[in-house]
Amino acid sequence: MATYLITGGAGFIGSHLAEKLLAAGDEVIVLDDLSSGRVQNLEQISGHASFRFVQGCITDRALLAEVCRPADTIFHLAATVGVLNIIKSPVETIENNINGTQYVLEAAVERRTKVIVASTSEVYGKSNSIPFREDDNLLLGPTSRSRWSYAASKIVDEFLALAFWRERSVPTVVARLFNTIGPRQSGQYGMVVPRFVRQALRGEDLTVYGDGSQSRVFTYVGDTVEWLARLAKAEGAVGEVVNLGGGGEVTIAELARRIIELTGSRSKICSVPYEQAYEEGFEDIQRRVPDTSKAQALTGYSARTGLDEALKSICDWCTKHPEA
Ligand code: UDP
Repeated sequence: MATYLITGGAGFIGSHLAEKLLAAGDEVIVLDDLSSGRVQNLEQISGHASFRFVQGCITDRALLAEVCRPADTIFHLAATVGVLNIIKSPVETIENNINGTQYVLEAAVERRTKVIVASTSEVYGKSNSIPFREDDNLLLGPTSRSRWSYAASKIVDEFLALAFWRERSVPTVVARLFNTIGPRQSGQYGMVVPRFVRQALRGEDLTVYGDGSQSRVFTYVGDTVEWLARLAKAEGAVGEVVNLGGGGEVTIAELARRIIELTGSRSKICSVPYEQAYEEGFEDIQRRVPDTSKAQALTGYSARTGLDEALKSICDWCTKHPEA
């Protein structure tokens, strides 16, 4: 039995990870400031004997030291996320994502606690070297576009994680997550799948930004947390950067059509210019496709849940939780 600390564990991905680890018989401590996480996400595990929830911020170093002490492994998922959030609060994004990660890594030094740092496919930026491999060049836009502050902050996190391994012997793994989707994900901060599903269920128009030809590979949260749990145990993963992503590429226009079909909704698709959706001069990423051979080689696992199956479970969940 191991003890895990999950920062950001009341969030969408963190809460699924907490459930998975508890089900495997491990102990879980969640640290979350509930800025975007929700206590409701922890409802199914809140009474579990091996579970503890601590409300607080990763920038509170005394609290961080206390919750890190009993942990054998830390999953560092706490961050400011979501394109809308990032454009609205670039200062907070940079502070939380860079300072927070540094504090977590510093707290891990004393006991050389393993830290799995959640990064993002956003770091590949506008690269068109499809599929994206972990050692590819990264291509961001100018600093005048706040969107890129998220990728830049996560790139610094990756450098920090790798530097703490090389210089301070803290075993770290960087996981680059590709558009994770599933029950409990909020559409409030811009994420396309929960937004489209809610719009379809309410009979509202689905807001496709730009011409809808941009594509993504969506990854079901069940696959993501399976991978994270395996990465924490994979000896060869320490000091590595690993893509975690699904298999099927889909355009946003096609995604909208599939969600309308799946929900049997009378909604239509409406096209919204980027400037209206985000900000003047917004730059989208045209294609984002992972090469996941490294993750497969390290963990023996590859994503199993297809897009339609994932969308069905999200539709069911959104129908049951109209308030979320
Ligand atoms: N998008 C959209 N309509 C929405 C929200 C997002 O067309 O209501 C598009 C967005 O412009 C991007 C894609 O969906 O091309 C994925 O957006 P999301 O914010 O989910 O993740 P990203 O891949 O941009 O980080």
